[in-house]
Amino acid sequence: MKENILQQSSVSVSMVREMTPQVNRAAVESIVREIVLKRLGPCAQKDAAAHPSRLVVNASARHMHVSQADLDALFGPGHQLKLLHPLYQQGSFSAEETVVLIGPRGRSISNLRILGPVRSASQIEMAFTDAVALGIENLPIRLSGDIEGTPGAFVMGPQGVVELKQGVIRAAMHAHMSPADAEFYGVRHRDVMKLKVGDGTGVTFDRVHVRVDPAFRLEVHLDTDEANACALHLAKQVELLKP
Ligand SMILES: [Zn+2]
Repeated sequence: MKENILQQSSVSVSMVREMTPQVNRAAVESIVREIVLKRLGPCAQKDAAAHPSRLVVNASARHMHVSQADLDALFGPGHQLKLLHPLYQQGSFSAEETVVLIGPRGRSISNLRILGPVRSASQIEMAFTDAVALGIENLPIRLSGDIEGTPGAFVMGPQGVVELKQGVIRAAMHAHMSPADAEFYGVRHRDVMKLKVGDGTGVTFDRVHVRVDPAFRLEVHLDTDEANACALHLAKQVELLKP
């Protein structure tokens, strides 16, 4: 929207400049912008002012967040995670390191990816399908970091095994957003929104938890079961709906 307005205003900029050669370019552009915004109406003004970000929806496959203490035990003292590839949220990344996750009945998932950077507590996020395969019943749906009273698991790395007393969850669907995005949608941290995936009938998820942080980029995270349920890979349209 911003780019369209500037393109449409380019003729006007040269006209104004010819009439008032003493005025500097920034001042002229500011005046023209104001005129164009007025002509385009209140909707265009709101869009231009709010700078809405492009909504990105990504599925998180099962993964582990790891504390430094657990990383030391699994990969050796002082181990540093190696970057495999960066994720959409700045600073977070897929690590080269993977572990074997062992569930309550001795069933296991190999090659469980670790995501960096390290955190204060280890946590494993998976879909219900993963939990069924592992033999974990009643996998709780929690927001990241809220792991009190959740199931534990054994995790095996090349240098050792760690018993997590708790920390296995299905992550509640959530939207990362900056304060500017939150203002655009008219929501606050901890609010709940809806997510519509696909046009026509589509699929609408009713509980998307809003997480606001200045470092966040606008992105909804859902798990692989949720992504498959709404055929996310085929969706041409996604929409966050205001409460
Ligand atoms: Zn997330």
